[in-house]
Amino acid sequence: MSDSAAQPLVCPGCGTPHPGNERFCGECGMPLTYADRPDLEAPVSAAHARARKIKPQYSEGDLVRVAGARNQSEAELIQGLLLEEGVPSMLRRSRGFDVPDMLAAGPRDVMVPASGAAAARDVLLQAELITDRPPVRVVERPARLLLGLCAVVALVALIAWLGTDVLV
Ligand SMILES: [Zn+2]
Repeated sequence: MSDSAAQPLVCPGCGTPHPGNERFCGECGMPLTYADRPDLEAPVSAAHARARKIKPQYSEGDLVRVAGARNQSEAELIQGLLLEEGVPSMLRRSRGFDVPDMLAAGPRDVMVPASGAAAARDVLLQAELITDRPPVRVVERPARLLLGLCAVVALVALIAWLGTDVLV
């Protein structure tokens, strides 16, 4: 077995080879791509196509968060869009959701290398997946609760008023 057979994956960011069961670079966290393997067929050609799409100038620097996705499949959709523009990316579970019962579901942060962040934001802005402004978190529950309480009070008052009206 040659070296590339034992470690068919290579990091597009730092070039470190990895065994086939790894998905992300142990050195820098980048998603791994297949090293040149002309002896393997279909699955690798997809990986080859993917590797070819990644622009080296977008593969440098620390990972920065460019978008948040509500779940894994939305995150993968974003990753696909980014890859079309040559930006490699990886996913992280959003802070606060990295507890065991949220492992399968839950929101994801889409991370890209710093050098690809500007290009990634352009892609996501065009796809209307992010806005220029930070997301505004509206706290709905207390307001709704208060509204419900007001309705109850109004109803009680109405019944009381109707009651007195009837009595008079
Ligand atoms: Zn790496």
